[in-house]
Amino acid sequence: MAVVYKIDQNRCISCGTCDMECKFGAVRISDEGKFSIDAEACRGCGICAGVCPVDAAMKSSEI
Ligand code: SF4
Ligand code: SF4
Repeated sequence: MAVVYKIDQNRCISCGTCDMECKFGAVRISDEGKFSIDAEACRGCGICAGVCPVDAAMKSSEI
């Protein structure tokens, strides 16, 4: 199974950095302003995890 990333809702502060940095447009924002990652679009590059200031973005297996 391909590695995809997820966002830990308990840590995310909705700063939007992952959305700006993701090269594949995989970050989604809900009507409530919650950030998540579309597993179908995510390529597992890990950029979001590298730029997240609160370590909320991580490999799906790590949540
Ligand atoms: S792992 Fe890469 S492709 Fe997936 S959401 Fe993060 S930045 Fe986007
Ligand atoms: S970079 Fe981290 S804190 Fe900011 S919106 Fe993305 S997951 Fe949330």
